[in-house]
Amino acid sequence: MTESTRPPAAIPFPALPDHDWPEMAPGWVWLCGAGPGDPGLLTLHALSALRQADVVVHDALVHEAILRWAPQAERIFAGKRGGQPSARQRDISMQLIDLARAGKRVLRLKGGDPFVFGRGGEEAQTLIQHGVPVRIVPGISAGIGGLAYAGIPVTHRDVNQAVTFVTGHDPSGEAPALDWAALARGGQVLVIYMGMKHAGRIAQALIAGGRPADEPVAVVAEASLPGQRVLETALGRVAQDIESSGLRPPAILCVGRAVLMRQVLDWQALVAGEAPRNLDPLGRGRPAEEG
Ligand code: SAH
Repeated sequence: MTESTRPPAAIPFPALPDHDWPEMAPGWVWLCGAGPGDPGLLTLHALSALRQADVVVHDALVHEAILRWAPQAERIFAGKRGGQPSARQRDISMQLIDLARAGKRVLRLKGGDPFVFGRGGEEAQTLIQHGVPVRIVPGISAGIGGLAYAGIPVTHRDVNQAVTFVTGHDPSGEAPALDWAALARGGQVLVIYMGMKHAGRIAQALIAGGRPADEPVAVVAEASLPGQRVLETALGRVAQDIESSGLRPPAILCVGRAVLMRQVLDWQALVAGEAPRNLDPLGRGRPAEEG
């Protein structure tokens, strides 16, 4: 029965590059990241899984083009939109267990990286607790790759020596009870996932903690997708600028002077034929050639 759903020879795609790819055995769940959106940011292990899977259980943020790379597989949408209660999460995990126990090759595909604000840890733990074998395939997280698509490096030698990944809401949908003053101190770069709803409160808390109101902020919506939009703003006006821009989630917020690097590194604008806005946005002169 399982075999009949899997026609390996008939998949109408070029072969994967020559490599000893691990086989996805029946009864296994591969928990894979799909990257931030652009299908080209998928890993080869994830593509290999798409080719082998009997069933793909995916989130809302996984691009349709990626799902089409598994034409032989049944598709199950297991999206959660906006902080649903964890009972739903349990349903998803139990469904994965049932599919694995039925002998399916199960690809659980999540946006970005499955272990970055994606509940991948919970799912994998539940699977392993139920004796289901699991393989983890990391993905490019929106907070790194999505910002790179906006021309923002999450670290830059002249800007920061640390970067903090933060979630903008907790499981109940509220702004998380983080020590924002501690995050504000030291002036390091902050990358905020799911930060749109509470952007104003978060910005206020960071300013109260000592960040300047004119500290640069970028809001990158639909990063790496054709609809990518980037808002460059500042902490003191981020909420009103999000409001007037009409930007919608999914979006990543980046707080800190790394955002200024976009003035020179907005490579998508360069591809479109525009000139860089500013070759030296940090005012450091030519980059040091060594050291
Ligand atoms: N595991 C994912 C994050 C899941 S949480 C990862 O590693 O990227 C969902 C949040 O991720 C969204 O609210 C948004 O903040 C961010 N996100 C995911 N995809 C995005 C995209 N294409 N553009 C902008 N933000 C994105």
